[in-house]
Amino acid sequence: MSAESASVLAWIGLGGNVDDPKSAICDALTRLNQEVDVGVEAVSSLYRTAAMGVTDQPDFLNAVARLVTKRDPEGLLQTLLGIESALGRVRSGVQFGPRNIDLDLLLYGEVEMATRSLTVPHPRMHLRRFVLEPLYEIDADLTLPDGRRVSYLLEQCRDQGVKRAGSIEVPR
Ligand code: ADP
Ligand code: MG
Repeated sequence: MSAESASVLAWIGLGGNVDDPKSAICDALTRLNQEVDVGVEAVSSLYRTAAMGVTDQPDFLNAVARLVTKRDPEGLLQTLLGIESALGRVRSGVQFGPRNIDLDLLLYGEVEMATRSLTVPHPRMHLRRFVLEPLYEIDADLTLPDGRRVSYLLEQCRDQGVKRAGSIEVPR
């Protein structure tokens, strides 16, 4: 008999810049919410950003969501990657290149871990205004496992500005 596992709050980042990224983000949230042991509790506004790195590509739309889950971090990552595939994500091989949907695990409770397949907290989240702004929108007191507040990271962030670009519903 296995013990009932505890629920953990996890935060994910969603983004895309080709085809119809808003639909892909909504679709991903709906699919995630339909998964056993995963609930989508809160979703930020959409944010528009010019592409970084490979700049010759359409603007990105990004959002973050707060989940409650009983899956472990690796199980949750596999769920996210499975939804990317189901939505037809093709990996171009270009890091930071165009994608119709990208789902990243940003935070998983207070967990800090790094394996071959998964680093949590997401190693670049503190540098990205398109992650920090929507996190702050949902929870202005949010703090990383190392004690740094998202509000502090936003003050330090040198990344370019982001623009709010509409809202999406929390899936039911
Ligand atoms: P990126 O999101 O950095 O542009 P990809 O979406 O192509 O890149 O992800 C590549 C790999 O990154 C995934 O297959 C996954 O194993 C790994 N990875 C490591 N840590 C994370 C994380 N926190 N969230 C999502 N993927 C991660
Ligand atoms: Mg990714």
